[in-house]
Formats: sequence, structure tokens, C-alpha cells
Amino acid sequence: MSNTDFSSTSTVQTRLTALQQLIQRACENAAKPVDSLTFLAVSKTQSVHSVHEAYQAGLRDFGENYAQEGVDKIIAMQQLVGSNSINWHFIGPLQSNKTRLVAEYFAWVHSVERFKIAQRLAEQRPAHLPDLNVCIQVNISHEANKSGCLPDELIALALHINALPRLKLRGLMAIPAPIDPLADDAAQREPFVAMKNWYDRVKAALPLASQSQFDTLSMGMSNDFPHAIAAGATIIRIGSALFGARNPI
Ligand SMILES: *Cc1c(COP(=O)(O)O)cnc(C)c1O
Repeated sequence: MSNTDFSSTSTVQTRLTALQQLIQRACENAAKPVDSLTFLAVSKTQSVHSVHEAYQAGLRDFGENYAQEGVDKIIAMQQLVGSNSINWHFIGPLQSNKTRLVAEYFAWVHSVERFKIAQRLAEQRPAHLPDLNVCIQVNISHEANKSGCLPDELIALALHINALPRLKLRGLMAIPAPIDPLADDAAQREPFVAMKNWYDRVKAALPLASQSQFDTLSMGMSNDFPHAIAAGATIIRIGSALFGARNPI
């Protein structure tokens, strides 16, 4: 296929097929097996119908940005496909007053940026559920007023979070500042390569017993995922290229 059709008239299944070819190529270029990469379908503002369509196309990991919207969809999808068939990831900014909902309904949180939030998640994670998988969000582009901890604070924060019960520190997440799409590959890749370097440094700083579960680099979205894959992403988070334009909130 020479053209990738992300237009709003195509279905989730056709968009996914086109994306899978691009992902396969990016994985081949990076000499990585395709099955080592998780495709996270970002379903914020999308309907339960669209989530179900993506589920029927084979996707099992979904990402939501708003706690209540996410929980509503989780419950609706449980009624459609059963309770243990989807991994739900919380990827949006997380305020203290929403940690309980997230701890009770999600399997993953990618957007932990402060110890206090991690502590609340640990306290509120129900005992009957497996440990909550968490990634630390990194403000890799040092943007003012943007989410994520600054790289300088990362290792200390990771060591603190790693010591909490009920959480499993899995890795790092970033949303780099947009880069001119006409810039060369090296420039496009730079923030993702910087993330891979931080990932390696944090992993090496963790106690030996925790290092093998620290296995996740969540980076790459619709516009930049091939560069993220080239730099070592293990989860790419794809919204508009899969579902079409987002519905207004
Ligand atoms: C919305 C969102 C995405 C998906 O963005 P697209 O450009 O639509 O693929 C990925 N990650 C996070 C944290 C988001 O908020």
C-alpha cells in the first residue's frame, strides 16, 4: 500500500490495517519483533461503539485521559465483552481527587509525575486487584507549564515510587514538544532518543530485583510513532490515526 488512508470515511479496521503496515516497517528498520510493541488505542472522546469496533479489529489495550469518561467506557465495555478482556490505561493528567477512580478501574497509569499522586494510587488500589502498573511521565522537552517531571528529578522520583506497595513501576512516558515535520530524521528522533537514555539510566539506578519489571517506554503518537519505534518505544499511543478526528468534548 503506497498511501495510508486515515480519512474519516474509512473504518477503524481499514485504518488499523494501514497503521500495522507502517508499524511493521518501523519495527523491521529497527530490527525489533512487531510483537514486542504494544499498540495502545487512545479512545478519549470516542464512543463505546468505536471502542467496540477497535476491539473487534483485535485491539486489547485502550487509553483514556479523563477518569470519569474512562470509567463509563470501562463499565460499558465490560457489559459487551466481559470484565477481563481489555487492559485499560490512564494516560491523562491526574489530579488528587481522581486517583481513587483510576486506582479502582484501570490496570495502568502512564502519567504519574509526582510522589503524592503515586502514594494516593498505592493507598487506594483495591487489595483484590493486581498491582497497578505505573509509568512516570517525563517533561522531556522542558516545556513550561507542561505535564511530567523534569529529567533532573526523575531518578529520585523513580526510587521513591518503586518502594511503594501495590504499584509496579514499569517505565517512562513522554509527549515531546512537536518538531517540524520537515526536519531530518535525527531531529525528529532526538527527544525519543533522550527518553531511551533516561530509561536506561533509571533502570540501572533501580534495585536489582526491580530492574526486570521496568520494561516500558511509552512514546509515539499518530504523527511521530515511527521515530519513537526507531528509538526504542515499547508502547505507542495512537488516537486520531486509528479513530479519525476526535469528537469535541
Ligand atoms: C490524545 C493522546 C494521544 C493520542 O494522540 P493522537 O495524536 O491522536 O494519536 C496519545 N497520548 C496522550 C497522552 C494523549 O493525550
